[in-house]
Amino acid sequence: MNNMGINLDEKNLKKQIIDCMKSLHSRGLMTGVGGNASARQMGEEKAWITPSGLYKPDLNPSDLVNIDLEGKVIEGMFKPSIEWYFHTAIYKKRTDVNAILHTHSPFTMGLALANVKLRPITFEAATILADVPILPFKYPGTEELGNQVGDTILGKRAMILQNHGVITVGFDLIEALSTVEILEEAAIMTFVANIFGPPEEIPSDQIELIKKLYKI
Ligand code: 13P
Ligand code: ZN
Repeated sequence: MNNMGINLDEKNLKKQIIDCMKSLHSRGLMTGVGGNASARQMGEEKAWITPSGLYKPDLNPSDLVNIDLEGKVIEGMFKPSIEWYFHTAIYKKRTDVNAILHTHSPFTMGLALANVKLRPITFEAATILADVPILPFKYPGTEELGNQVGDTILGKRAMILQNHGVITVGFDLIEALSTVEILEEAAIMTFVANIFGPPEEIPSDQIELIKKLYKI
């Protein structure tokens, strides 16, 4: 995975989307057909998005679809992801966001389905994951879901769609990918710890210190 997400040219941006899909699939964070991704060059009113229904770890650059922020296809031979509603809703609301990932991360989802909240068990959980809302179920691929996500995304870097999956956003794909990973890592730790009893948490005075230091 190319680690230089900032100011990638179009060719490398598309390659990074494809690498992301391979990486997420190889680690069981999404099935071949579940999940999707999009990314845009900074300031653009259009984005490259994965095609709908194709086997995502085997995508080629020419399979990606370029859409405007109303979901109109500008370039590409396939239909864009059915989730283009929420991808475009996020880009419209967040000029700081240039990459969006959607996965069906199994441990993260398992805990959300059981209504187990992530606690401040690690530094990342206390900071990056301090505010991950769980949105009530809306049918996938609908404008209604897009509106719900658009209404919630301000100030967030991740959210959970109940009975469905995860959305993370970032300045670039590396940031969005890191958040998917951190979320799943914290979910696995929580799951393992809960077998033996409630997990130890970072003391609240330390969390306050972390929040002050990182201006959260
Ligand atoms: P797409 O293949 O259309 O992106 O659908 C996958 C998915 O996860 C829908 O929520
Ligand atoms: Zn999905």
